Amino acid sequence: MTYLTDKSILNTAQLIDWYHLNKRDLPWRLTKDPYKIWLSEIILQQTRVAQGTSYYLKFTTNYPTVNDLAEASEEEVLKDWQGLGYYSRARNLHTAAKFVANEMGGIFPNSYASIRELKGVGDYTSAAIASFAFDLPHAVVDGNVYRLLSRLFGIETPIDSTQGKKQFASLAQTLLPIDQAANYNQAIMEFGAIQCTPKTPKCHTCPFSISCIALKSDQIERLPIKEKKLKQKKRYLNYLILESDDELLVNKRDGKGIWQNLYDFPMVESATSISERNLSLSKDFQTLLSGSEFKIVVSSKERKHILSHQILFAKFYHIYITDKLEVIKGNFEQIKKTELANKPIPKLIENYLREETNLLSLLGSLN
Ligand code: SF4
Repeated sequence: MTYLTDKSILNTAQLIDWYHLNKRDLPWRLTKDPYKIWLSEIILQQTRVAQGTSYYLKFTTNYPTVNDLAEASEEEVLKDWQGLGYYSRARNLHTAAKFVANEMGGIFPNSYASIRELKGVGDYTSAAIASFAFDLPHAVVDGNVYRLLSRLFGIETPIDSTQGKKQFASLAQTLLPIDQAANYNQAIMEFGAIQCTPKTPKCHTCPFSISCIALKSDQIERLPIKEKKLKQKKRYLNYLILESDDELLVNKRDGKGIWQNLYDFPMVESATSISERNLSLSKDFQTLLSGSEFKIVVSSKERKHILSHQILFAKFYHIYITDKLEVIKGNFEQIKKTELANKPIPKLIENYLREETNLLSLLGSLN
């Protein structure tokens, strides 16, 4: 296949017409407020529209302006973010809101370069906000755009290579009609999302099927090309829910990991999946529970949880401490079971608590 720069392959007026006829009604498309557009873009990174919509509505309700978000505590923001994953996005969002509130007088930046300086904002997000809110002529390139352009133009350069990123950015910018930046960017992403989809693109109703190089050369399944395969590390986590009648111990995660500042339970990590007996014989388990009287009352089956760079295998053990929790408290926080609902917790733990424990009734305020 050859890479063609022939602009006639993608008639942008036709693309924008398609968009007006087929676009989904999404709440962030009804505003020109750069703050709300920024919220939607950060929420939608790595998140499906169906899931992201309720979070967008929650954030715009709880924090109607950038100053409201800046004034919230990090714990409140993480709690509202709970379930979306990739928690660094929420922490960056909060940092950026405080920067806009404190350093920019609460006025959201209005140029590509100044938006790009906000924490957690990259090339794609700056182009999206600059074009949607201010009609500035910066072309977006997201996964949908990579897929559509690689198929339409028959581009085989890997989309995750330096050369590929430059090539696709340059092509998208060349195609962008200067006076229709917002419509064009929305249209090209929407087309990739609902027409030229990853697995079963709707080629039979595609307005570009005559010019599409991938369709002509039967390369749809092969394109776009990625050169790097993601390596996912496997980890085995044994969570210990150490409880008395109405209290339990939780662990606030410090350090720089993915779950920084979220709460989980005391945990013993093992090199492979281990049985309850081998767990209770392990040094970490014995150190943690030394000097206490306890009984393992429930052990869960193993749950698999997939993150971008890790596959987690987690088991949960409910351990009733017959003497006082203080004996093993250490650096953990001792809380009432009813307080758990107010703590930001990782999705893996929320799923377990919701689906398999009688703590569910105590989690009524979780979304
Ligand atoms: S013809 Fe098929 S593969 Fe080509 S752009 Fe249209 S939907 Fe995508």
